[in-house]
Amino acid sequence: MTNRQAAVQIVRCLQEHGFEALLAGGCVRDMLLGHKPKDYDVATNAKPKEVVQLFPRTLTVGVKFGVVIVLMRHSQVEVATFRSEAGYRDGRHPDEVEFTHAAEDAGRRDFTINGMFYDPLAEQVIDYVGGQADLDRKIVRTIGDPQERFAEDYLRMLRAIRFSTRLGFAIEPATFDAIRDNAARITRISGERIAIELEAILVDPNRQAGTSMLFESGLADAVFPELPDEHRQRALAILGGLRRRVDFALALAGFFAGCQADEALARCHILKLSRRTAKHLTFLLMHRGNLLDDSMSLARLKMLLARPYFWDLYELERATRKAEGDRQSLAALGRLRRRIRTLRGVDVRPKPLLNGHDLIRLGATPGPVLGQLAEELYIAQLEGLLHTTDQAGEWARRWLQEHARTDS
Ligand code: ATP
Ligand code: MG
Repeated sequence: MTNRQAAVQIVRCLQEHGFEALLAGGCVRDMLLGHKPKDYDVATNAKPKEVVQLFPRTLTVGVKFGVVIVLMRHSQVEVATFRSEAGYRDGRHPDEVEFTHAAEDAGRRDFTINGMFYDPLAEQVIDYVGGQADLDRKIVRTIGDPQERFAEDYLRMLRAIRFSTRLGFAIEPATFDAIRDNAARITRISGERIAIELEAILVDPNRQAGTSMLFESGLADAVFPELPDEHRQRALAILGGLRRRVDFALALAGFFAGCQADEALARCHILKLSRRTAKHLTFLLMHRGNLLDDSMSLARLKMLLARPYFWDLYELERATRKAEGDRQSLAALGRLRRRIRTLRGVDVRPKPLLNGHDLIRLGATPGPVLGQLAEELYIAQLEGLLHTTDQAGEWARRWLQEHARTDS
């Protein structure tokens, strides 16, 4: 059973029990655009208690806000009671929800294109907010007065840019003006939520347009203050040149291409990045320039290739040099690529031919000297100078002799 079939079955069941039930929000938008919805949400006039009684398997964590999750086979469908939301004093969380009818539920949603319902049984769109017209015109527009709607929830400013980026829609002028007016207040929203929206904008293939809107609206400046104009231009050029699919870290590296790694990381502090993303970003920014050296040793190349983010580094370098029109560096990257191609099938991170115990048996004393020997031996192995344990043993013995000689 697909998610869509699960949602339609829930709608049918609710309607058969005399309730109003409709698909709502993002899935209606995506269906009308011919895109595949991420998930299907149901809106109904049944109260949470009634929804829970109708379906055998439900999760009720969101009941306070009128949301019940109905489990069907492997699908989870959010079933939300039509609601209005009153009082947004902290600019984020509705203080209370009130159960109401469909038209008012449409009115609490953020953008006209997100405010439509669809009855899958009658095959009918129910549009109280002019969403269809804005879909046709390819426009992101708040439902109601944009100043008020953003003051209720400042996160909507980033959502507007996210939908505009993803769909390639323009943001309606009054809506965009209101974002500009309120941009500085985005930091009242938690860093994690800002990061989620920013990630969606930056990983989108249309990320250059999205980032341009982040700059023009003042949102980027609110989150990352005083990024010099030169850095912005550089970011835009690089983001425009990256391949379609990228990780958040690679996009962030493009965004912060004007900065050193530590500065970029400090600027990202607000986002509370995961350790993994922070590590990934740091690797990319720290190793910039390292791929351009034609005389890079084979061992060094293999060690770089063994790093999980190697190809992201390559891509960042390529997009950066392309943005700069640096043909020489692009040619060096092409040579590196050809060199890597000759390594196809070669294990770039082989098991060391000898381990620490083996080396002690050969006469090395535990400690820093042993570490140095192990490292140099491994480099010789990666260089392709050693293929068997016998060769490695011979090499290590010679190394120890020479080491003893220089020590005395
Ligand atoms: P996506 O495809 O990215 O999931 P979506 O439109 O489904 O986009 P969600 O965040 O899943 O977006 O929210 C579902 C619906 O809930 C939206 O379409 C919108 O109607 C409403 N909504 C979500 N967040 C807000 C908000 N901050 N303010 C007002 N309405 C919102
Ligand atoms: Mg959704």
